[in-house]
Amino acid sequence: MGFDTSGLLPLSDALQGMLEQLACCCDSEQLPLPEALGRVLASDIASPLAVPPFDNSAMDGYAVRLADLASGTPLIMVGKAFAGQPYQDEWPAGHCVRIMTGAPVPEGTDAVVMQEETLADGDRITFLAQPEPGQNIRRAGSDIGKGACVLPAGTRLTPREMPLLASLGVATVAVRRPLKVAIFSTGDELKPVGTPLAHGDIYDSNRYGVRAMLARLGCDCLDLGIIPDDPAQLCAAFIRADAEADVLITTGGVSVGEADFTKQLLDELGEIGFWKLAIKPGKPFAFGRLPHTWFFGLPGNPVSAMVTFDQLVQPALAKLAGQRFERPLQLQAIAAEPLKKSPGRLDFQRGILSQGPNGLEVRSTGSQDSAVFSSLSRANCYIVLERERGRVAAGETVTVEPFGGLLL
Ligand code: AMP
Ligand code: MG
Repeated sequence: MGFDTSGLLPLSDALQGMLEQLACCCDSEQLPLPEALGRVLASDIASPLAVPPFDNSAMDGYAVRLADLASGTPLIMVGKAFAGQPYQDEWPAGHCVRIMTGAPVPEGTDAVVMQEETLADGDRITFLAQPEPGQNIRRAGSDIGKGACVLPAGTRLTPREMPLLASLGVATVAVRRPLKVAIFSTGDELKPVGTPLAHGDIYDSNRYGVRAMLARLGCDCLDLGIIPDDPAQLCAAFIRADAEADVLITTGGVSVGEADFTKQLLDELGEIGFWKLAIKPGKPFAFGRLPHTWFFGLPGNPVSAMVTFDQLVQPALAKLAGQRFERPLQLQAIAAEPLKKSPGRLDFQRGILSQGPNGLEVRSTGSQDSAVFSSLSRANCYIVLERERGRVAAGETVTVEPFGGLLL
């Protein structure tokens, strides 16, 4: 291998170590349903209703009683039932009720026969097939029983949950307040976009990535800008974040060359651990706490910052925000070309997953250098290569993780 990786910390250990220390820190509030989009439910939602609330027709057709059909003679249509307009009159023997989808079935209905299985001659309806009992009737409570838990606490409300809650008549929900996250970038070389670059300067790109990911996660972001590599200014930024935010996320300043600086400061203000993670990209990572605020120090390299945020910080923020978190699914795909890899670290290479003639296949986006941002912007998945794995030949099966909502 040529280099010692024995001191590297596996990703799963790092994640577990952090999650063990963290707990939800966001209070709850009651919000009208439309304003709760993107928020995290503070308590289980039990259904106040049965859904559907009454037995209703799944088809346009005729409500029948099986006894009336026994003789095989046509039935006379006695009236009509529409969605929102039930049939409530007498239903004499030898008759059927015209019924539309979603209409409550009249009392005594055994089945609904779809229109296509009947012949109508004025009000005389001939039934071409014998229906099964219960056919085409959606029973009250068959979707959701009254009192059943429809959404557990910790669910983040997406467009998929909104109509579900509305269908139950839920007008307001108890949700957690958003997590407040302070961010800053460190580095004397960094300039904000919209300003000219002097020789040796680069634009601060990480802050825009981190801000965008925080927005996707529904966090409130306090952007403290770029802080130069100057102890007094860094110290002031740490103190401000500690006073105003639940979490502080910085990028840069955690690599071997710079860690001492940050460490000295944070050892005075709080506690900090510097980790060398057994992942690539993203080796240096810092985790710690100020008196009131959790601290995540991401590496400065732009791709490393994004990947460590996605893999490590995202689940940690979810826990702090009271949100249940599941990683996107991992799939198996065929490597359509060889992939460079040396054993020692878990690789999150950036790939393009597509449907090939023989199933899913994946290609690399090119240079996997952690400073090459185009490798991430052109990708739609990670190619997750196991720690001890070496070079991958074309045709080998690899694990891929399509990007989840954070990066889309
Ligand atoms: P550092 O972790 O501070 O040693 O930075 C590692 C590399 O990432 C250096 O090449 C930095 O110039 C670069 N870098 C650090 N922070 C940023 C940033 N906010 N935006 C773009 N590049 C950065
Ligand atoms: Mg730096």
